[in-house]
Amino acid sequence: MDSLYQWGMTNGFREQSFIVVKKNGIIYPKNYVVGTLSGDQTDVNYTLATGEQLLAYFHTHAEDTASYWRTSFSPDDLLEFNKNANVTGYTALLEVGNARYAFVVEDVSKKSAFNISKKGRHEKLYKAVFNTLSSQISNGQTLTEETWIQYLGSATVSGIGFYKATAPNKNNFTKLNP
Ligand SMILES: [Zn+2]
Repeated sequence: MDSLYQWGMTNGFREQSFIVVKKNGIIYPKNYVVGTLSGDQTDVNYTLATGEQLLAYFHTHAEDTASYWRTSFSPDDLLEFNKNANVTGYTALLEVGNARYAFVVEDVSKKSAFNISKKGRHEKLYKAVFNTLSSQISNGQTLTEETWIQYLGSATVSGIGFYKATAPNKNNFTKLNP
């Protein structure tokens, strides 16, 4: 995941995505997709072979703009996550260089209730929180992180756990919205 991020930083800040699947007890990544040069949107290829179970989707944020440096998930990323967030444990992974983030489905019915309560307006409502906080927080990574903590609220209510791991050990995740 580090190398895919570094690849983007030296190739026009392009993102990459892949999915993580499980088959016969073995977990592995597949379907690597390179993002476009112009946009920051990464397509995800969810094509599965017979017997494969989808566990997670991953993408990078290779960013250069000073105020958005190494930001956490975008509102679009939550929409992408929601496409397959139908089983407990399904995960969205994000690599931003110095940190790694995850959304995890911890309660399917609470997650569904959270989505319904937002009435399909995640982008607009997320941005309202973001705009309020942006006058107080100048660091792009901290700003997007705090926005998710406030927007999702406690995982015990929204059903979505929000996690962060920081370099050098990006496998040591801390829950940001307990
Ligand atoms: Zn993203």
